[in-house]
Amino acid sequence: MNHIQALSNPIFKIVSQAADELGLDCYVIGGFVRDYLLDRGTHKDIDIVAIGSGIELARKVASLLKEQPKVSVFKNFGTAMLRHGDVELEFVGARKESYHRDSRKPVVEDGTLADDQNRRDFTINALAISLNLNNYGDLLDPFNGISDLESKIIRTPLEPGITYSDDPLRMMRAIRFATQLDFQIEQNSLQAITDNKERIRIISKERIVDELNKILSSNVPSLGFSLLHKTGLLPFIMPELVALQGIEEIEGQRHKDNFWHTLEVVDNISKTTNNLWLRWAALLHDIGKAPTKKFHKKIGWTFHGHEFVGSKMVYRLFKRLRMPLNDKMKFVQKMVLMSSRPIVLSEDYATDSAVRRLVFDAGENVEDLMTLCEADITTKNPKKQRRYKNNFKIVRQKIIEVEERDSIRKFQPPVSGEEIMETFNLKPSKEIGIIKEAIKEAILEGEIPNEYEAAKEFMLAKGKAIGLTPS
Ligand code: ATP
Ligand code: MG
Repeated sequence: MNHIQALSNPIFKIVSQAADELGLDCYVIGGFVRDYLLDRGTHKDIDIVAIGSGIELARKVASLLKEQPKVSVFKNFGTAMLRHGDVELEFVGARKESYHRDSRKPVVEDGTLADDQNRRDFTINALAISLNLNNYGDLLDPFNGISDLESKIIRTPLEPGITYSDDPLRMMRAIRFATQLDFQIEQNSLQAITDNKERIRIISKERIVDELNKILSSNVPSLGFSLLHKTGLLPFIMPELVALQGIEEIEGQRHKDNFWHTLEVVDNISKTTNNLWLRWAALLHDIGKAPTKKFHKKIGWTFHGHEFVGSKMVYRLFKRLRMPLNDKMKFVQKMVLMSSRPIVLSEDYATDSAVRRLVFDAGENVEDLMTLCEADITTKNPKKQRRYKNNFKIVRQKIIEVEERDSIRKFQPPVSGEEIMETFNLKPSKEIGIIKEAIKEAILEGEIPNEYEAAKEFMLAKGKAIGLTPS
C-alpha cells in the first residue's frame, strides 16, 4: 500500500529531491510514521534515515530551502538537525549497533535500512516510508508493525531480553508508549522488563524523568504507574510510592491502600487539568502517609502530620531525581502541605473565616488546591461521593464570594508598617508586628473588612489597648 498522504508536508518533496541528487536512498521513520498511521495528528519531529551520510543529506536539504536554515551537526552521533517552519528534521545515516553491558552507548557502524530498523526499540517505531522518487510513499514494515498497531501491541523487533538489556531506557519507553497509546506490552516483553529491571540504574535520572513526565501527561497515567509497579521498576525510581502500597489490619481495623488510592487521584485530576505540576502534586499528595502511619487502640489508624512530612519528602524526591528545585517544586510542596485543608472544610459547614484563611494561605493557588482535593474523593459510597462533591461546590462558591468582598488572594496589609510607626511615633519594634498581625487576624476573622479606613481605626484601637498613644 502506498502512503503518499503521509507526505503532504512539502518538505518531503525537497528531501526526496536532495536524496536523488546525492544518489542515496532515504526514508522517514519512527514516531512520525507511527503517529500518521494512528491518526494522532502530525508529529513535529521528523526522523529521516539515509543509506549513507545523514549529515550530507541534511546539508543538501538546507541548500534547497529558500530560507537556508542552519544545520546543527552532531558529529559524534553522525546526526544533523534543521528546523523548517514548525517541524524539526533529524537526519541520521542508517546504522548497525552493538552494545556493551555497562553502557547504553552502542558501538556504531554504517548499515542498511534493515540494520537500522533492527536497532529500533519497537515494531511500531520501526516503520519507514520511502522518500526516493522511484518508490515514493512505499511502506517498509519488516516486523509487522502495522499489525501491532492494529492490535495495539508494544513488541520489540528483536529478542526482548537483548533489546532491554542493551538500552534499559527502552523499558521506560515501552511503558510510556503503552500509557500514551493505550497499548498492551506483549507478554515476553513484559517478562523481559521484569527480568532487567535493575539495569534501569544505568539510565540517567533526567531521561527517566522525561518518561515519567510523559506518562503523567497521558490521559490515564495510572496505566503507566501500575506497569512500573508490576514490572518492579517503581522501587528503583520512586520507593516512596511503593511504600504506600498495602492494607494493614489490626484488631479488625483497616486503612485504605494509599498506593492504589493515589493512582485513582492522579487519573481523576487528569480529567480536569493538563497542568503537569498539579498532576505531580496528585501523585505525591499522600507520600507522607507511609512514615507517619500509626495504630492507636481507641481511634485506629492515623497519619498525623503526613502533609508536612510529605512536603519535606517532595524536596528530597525532586533532588534525587534531579528535577528542578524551583517554583514548580515549591508549588508541589505547597499543594501537598495544604492537601487536607479543603477536605476539613467540606466535611463540615464552612464558615466564612475558615474560607478566608484558606484563600489567604493558598493565595494564587487556591483553585488548583480545590482541584486536587476534588480529585482526592475516591470513596465508592455514592452517597458520600455526592455529599463531598456538593460541599466542595459550596466551598468554591464561598471562595468567590469572600474574594469579591475582601480580596484576600493577593493580600497586602491595608495599613503599612511605616504608617503604624508614624502614628504611634515608634522606632522599628515588636509592637508594629503585633499590630500588623492583629489587623490581619481581624480581617480573616471577618471583624473588619479588608479596607484602609476600617484597618486604620482598628489600628488606633489596638495600639491604645497595648498602651501606645498616637502622636
Ligand atoms: P515521541 O517523539 O513521541 O517521543 P518517537 O517514537 O518519535 O516518539 P523519539 O524519541 O522521537 O520517539 O525517537 C524517534 C525514533 O527513534 C523512535 O521512533 C525509534 O524508532 C527510535 N528510538 C528512539 N529512542 C530509541 C531507543 N532508546 N532505542 C531504540 N530506538 C529508539
Ligand atoms: Mg519523535
